[in-house]
Amino acid sequence: MKFSFLALGALPVVLSATTGSSSSSSSSAAAAPAPSSSITTTIPGSGAPTGVTSPPASSPPTVPVTLITTNPTAYPLSSIFAGAPAQPTTTLDTIYPAGASPTAVIGAPSLPDISQLNPANYPPLDKPPPTDSSLVQGWIQQVQNSGIPIPGFAPTQVGGCPTNQAAAANASSSGTCWWTCGHCSRPTDIVTCENKLTWGTSFDDGPSPYTPNLLQFLDEHSLKTTFFIVGSRAISRPQMLQTQYMDGHQLSVHTWSHTALTTQTNEAIIAEFGWTKKVIKDVTGVTPNTFRPPYGDIDDRVRAIARAMDLTPIIWTTSPSGNFTFDTNDFNIPGGTVSASQVLNNFEQIMQTAPQLNTGFIVLEHDLFQQTVDLATGYILPQALAQQPPLTLQPIIECLGKPLSDAYVETNNNSTNPPPSGSAGATGVVTLTSGAPGSIQSPTAQPASSSSGSTSSNQSSGALRLDMSPIVALGFAVFTSVAAAFVAGL
Ligand SMILES: [Zn+2]
Repeated sequence: MKFSFLALGALPVVLSATTGSSSSSSSSAAAAPAPSSSITTTIPGSGAPTGVTSPPASSPPTVPVTLITTNPTAYPLSSIFAGAPAQPTTTLDTIYPAGASPTAVIGAPSLPDISQLNPANYPPLDKPPPTDSSLVQGWIQQVQNSGIPIPGFAPTQVGGCPTNQAAAANASSSGTCWWTCGHCSRPTDIVTCENKLTWGTSFDDGPSPYTPNLLQFLDEHSLKTTFFIVGSRAISRPQMLQTQYMDGHQLSVHTWSHTALTTQTNEAIIAEFGWTKKVIKDVTGVTPNTFRPPYGDIDDRVRAIARAMDLTPIIWTTSPSGNFTFDTNDFNIPGGTVSASQVLNNFEQIMQTAPQLNTGFIVLEHDLFQQTVDLATGYILPQALAQQPPLTLQPIIECLGKPLSDAYVETNNNSTNPPPSGSAGATGVVTLTSGAPGSIQSPTAQPASSSSGSTSSNQSSGALRLDMSPIVALGFAVFTSVAAAFVAGL
């Protein structure tokens, strides 16, 4: 069935969006309530509060919201609020049997048998996984063997920029490039799409009870998207993950417990990545080669670990002025700190800003909650499809000009889409090379070190030994962060 859009002409639906301080942070809200479903068990919230606080500048200014198109079956905005009564959920349109051949991903292995999966063989849900298991120890060894030095920054404290003033002051590209405080990104980060007016759509934190509602809308409009998968959700809903994958959507890693990665130790970050990669492979047969840091919380330490684990970062677009990011802030509706109108206001601001870019763009949205899916299917996506000038909506991998098969380790074409290499900087401060999938060739990019092959001599200043005890490691991390600052000339 196709939706026929209710054309409202240019009726200016001016919403009483108020953007006060309550909307100034995309990540500081209390834990969002757990979504529940009549057809599934209740799941805990995907994101425990991390205290990672985006700077106030990330909030776009208020603009009149003018919707020229909405979905005629949309829930009214007045019904989209924190604590709204549960709505019916949709069942999956297609369930794929074990052994099915993926047609959307060329060269992919057949679909695994998820009846053999046992959640007891995975870490507890929504908690940072233990790091002492043999699997995690093996992944730690692989990171060590990669030869990529991990910068010795100490983990940040929960609370974001205000509680990490020294780290925040060193968050620029000449320092740790901590995205949370100032939106620093490296050339290896994917933050835009290639072509102007192309939107690499994405939905984070699922699969959830409301994901099938979104899948139905996408299917009815022949749209494909990128899903950033929380490992804890994947083991809870493996069948849903299989349908997302088999329907031709891109899957990407979004950590196991949705923790703010810069607050974690190297070992904990490795465990977050490793378990999420593993559960996605166990369920679908393929391993994503990209990830999105929850809350955008990434710095060069997280980047180095990700690179050693064959994961390229995908964040979302920052406005040309740098004053705000392309974050709908829909995640904060269930917590009651942002209204549906404010989310549409943010979306409108993004729509007005996108034509000013010379590239395409990436926006932060979520499929975890009823409210966020209601807004996506009822308002945001219908409006995007009717937008003038027209937009092209694609999964992020495709908006980078690459086939869907390049999104997975097992099917990636290494000759045309080389994974990030293992070259290391001579200083011990990670040196990121260009050329990763979708990387932007920035004129201000740091050049790759000419002595990148001398990894064996790079261990003195910045590489954090992964076999240290936590206390020793912390002390060493403090020391090496100071050393790294000297190396950087700060
Ligand atoms: Zn998330």
